[in-house]
Amino acid sequence: MPGPFQLPALPWDESALAPTISSKTLSLHYGKHHLAYVNKLNELVAGTPYADQSLEQIIAATKGKADARKIYNNAGQTWNHNFYWNCLSPHGGGDPKGGIGKQLEPFGGYEGFCKQFAQAAVDQFGSGWAWLVSRDGKLEILTTSNADNPLTMGATPLLTIDVWEHAYYVDYENRRPDHVKAVIEKLLNWKWAEECLAKGGSQRKAA
Ligand code: FE
Repeated sequence: MPGPFQLPALPWDESALAPTISSKTLSLHYGKHHLAYVNKLNELVAGTPYADQSLEQIIAATKGKADARKIYNNAGQTWNHNFYWNCLSPHGGGDPKGGIGKQLEPFGGYEGFCKQFAQAAVDQFGSGWAWLVSRDGKLEILTTSNADNPLTMGATPLLTIDVWEHAYYVDYENRRPDHVKAVIEKLLNWKWAEECLAKGGSQRKAA
């Protein structure tokens, strides 16, 4: 039975990010893991008031509630993956210059940002996400564990890297640093980050 939430189409072909992320990884990550979060969420919200809510509303309403942990986790992972695919592009990577590039100066410019973002992603212990966000008018790097995301932290997500093992193990085995470095240098979709920053409401786009 179809539920209120659907797996959105990928913004590119499954082979478009190779060799940085292979089509095999994408078919598993998108076609199995992401789909499983969506299906599970639909199953869990069926017949509950959550069935009529947006992902953002569900995340806000269930965070920290022990009896809604499964719903929170699957809503968070659905939102995070919806957002993540847009953060990657076969035409991504490189110094964004101008616009958002100027706001990277506090990190030590583009090079400094790449180092700090990679370090944050590598240092995230266990499963989780590394984020570039906008909060209180400036850009910040932060990480979240498991299904958490920055929406409940007063921050607007601009970019993210999935550091769950399912995101890289097929291509990089245990070498998370190699995966993260390649994604940052070759795939980060700065155009998407600019759009999220301009709208300040990227969460709506990923719903
Ligand atoms: Fe993932």
